[in-house]
Amino acid sequence: MAIKELESRNITTQCPHCGDTVTLIPTHTPIQSHDHLYFVGLCPNHSNRHCRPIFAVYEFLNDRITSRYPIPSFDASNLHESIPESIRLDYAEARRCQYSSAFKGVVVLCRRVIEAIACNKLQDKSKDEKERTFKLFKLIDLLKDEGYITLDLKETAHELRHFGNYGAHMQDDGLDSVERDEANDIIEITWQFLYAIFVGPYKTKELKKKRLEKKS
Ligand SMILES: [Zn+2]
Repeated sequence: MAIKELESRNITTQCPHCGDTVTLIPTHTPIQSHDHLYFVGLCPNHSNRHCRPIFAVYEFLNDRITSRYPIPSFDASNLHESIPESIRLDYAEARRCQYSSAFKGVVVLCRRVIEAIACNKLQDKSKDEKERTFKLFKLIDLLKDEGYITLDLKETAHELRHFGNYGAHMQDDGLDSVERDEANDIIEITWQFLYAIFVGPYKTKELKKKRLEKKS
């Protein structure tokens, strides 16, 4: 396949160096197998932001980049300071799992993030009378009831069947069939929880502070 044809495909991915979602600039004719193309591409920001070349694997079937190297570092310290550190560490690890196609890892870590958010915000309300933390679906309901998340976000979280709807036994954890798309949805939903509960309110508070400073 010629470079021109590769350029006409969906070769958009997140640049691991600058973090932007970009359409790669192929630097050579791709190497082709029956279902994939392998090539080195440049981020469009490469001249002004020191973005290094990226090795990418493109999949014909779904018209998308399925893997690339280097994997973004997703360091916890790069996540917003309003998020408690232990939660940042888990979420950053979930992102690293996502880019390594470790989808069960994504689900497990995202469940842990939501549980930690709920315990952080709901305190005693996150536990039953025997001091046991409620199951994830119940915690999500409580976050909605206490006004931390919208009805929309609650319902979307409940729709993701691998997310919170699992029993007490390992064989009921629903992880056997997690696929890329669902892992991506779960990462996205988890981020929406983090934003709604920590980042958004923090930013609103900062804006208010600035406005009051201007007045005085
Ligand atoms: Zn870049």
